[in-house]
Amino acid sequence: MQNEAIINQSKTGINWNTSIFMALFHVGAIAALFMLSWKAVVVSLFLWWVSGSLGIGVGFHRLLTHRGYKTPKLIEYFLTVCGTLALEGGAINWVATHRIHHQHTDEEGDPHTPRDGGWWAHMGWILMGTGQQYDDKTLARFAPDLVKDPVHVWLNKFYWLPLTLLGIALFAIGGWSFLMVGIFLRVTIGLHATWLVNSATHMWGTRRFETKDDSRNSWWVALLSFGEGWHNNHHAHPVAARHGLTWYEVDINWWSIRTLQLLGLATGVKEISPEAIRAAKEAASSNANSNAAENVRARAA
Ligand SMILES: [Zn+2]
Ligand SMILES: [Zn+2]
Repeated sequence: MQNEAIINQSKTGINWNTSIFMALFHVGAIAALFMLSWKAVVVSLFLWWVSGSLGIGVGFHRLLTHRGYKTPKLIEYFLTVCGTLALEGGAINWVATHRIHHQHTDEEGDPHTPRDGGWWAHMGWILMGTGQQYDDKTLARFAPDLVKDPVHVWLNKFYWLPLTLLGIALFAIGGWSFLMVGIFLRVTIGLHATWLVNSATHMWGTRRFETKDDSRNSWWVALLSFGEGWHNNHHAHPVAARHGLTWYEVDINWWSIRTLQLLGLATGVKEISPEAIRAAKEAASSNANSNAAENVRARAA
């Protein structure tokens, strides 16, 4: 696996376009640290929630990739536009990558598994290799529902446009501070938050469900990604729209979906059944018991 990834990387080399943009955004993010103002920070926190939570978590991930709930087309497109503001590529390419990840989690074919190295899983796969670039055939195979929708196809092609317009608007309203903090710093932090779901939550954290992959639940990744860090829960039940299963598993993305549901704007909302949660709990405690019994036996011997 490790070797194959390296071969793959050297075969396709560095994605110069992506790498130059990523370098620009990181330099811009550092520059933005010297231009902070309270207004710029508040606006950026709001934009982080709009792009990372409404866009990526509620939109790209739980709605478009997994169809964990249904919502009117207008809201679907609105959430998709929010997602483009995170600069994670067009929704169709994002969905294809993520569906491939679920089909081959932590095995050959996974675009970003830490089994190929933590750095690779975090951002190496974006900078090198195939990244999120697929031919039309692959997109049609992994996102057939989206390639049939002309609005999604258009938004996927021009995914950079809403962010560009937002940048111009921020500059017009609040000058360099708004532009640098609201676009460069906010996008860079948002990217790392998403990437941590691919890297950290396949390495560090706890496991409620015995899945075949390495997925984990991580409270700090969940806080940074508005709830996406409950990643073991998610891999065990990918279609469920709710990832945080208890009051202390904070899942802000779920709160938005629940709000849409209460307003009648989200229907067919999928959740993990209480029986499945109970069964996982019982399996974990019987595992713990048998481990304890083994320890006692080991001590006695
Ligand atoms: Zn995963
Ligand atoms: Zn997923």
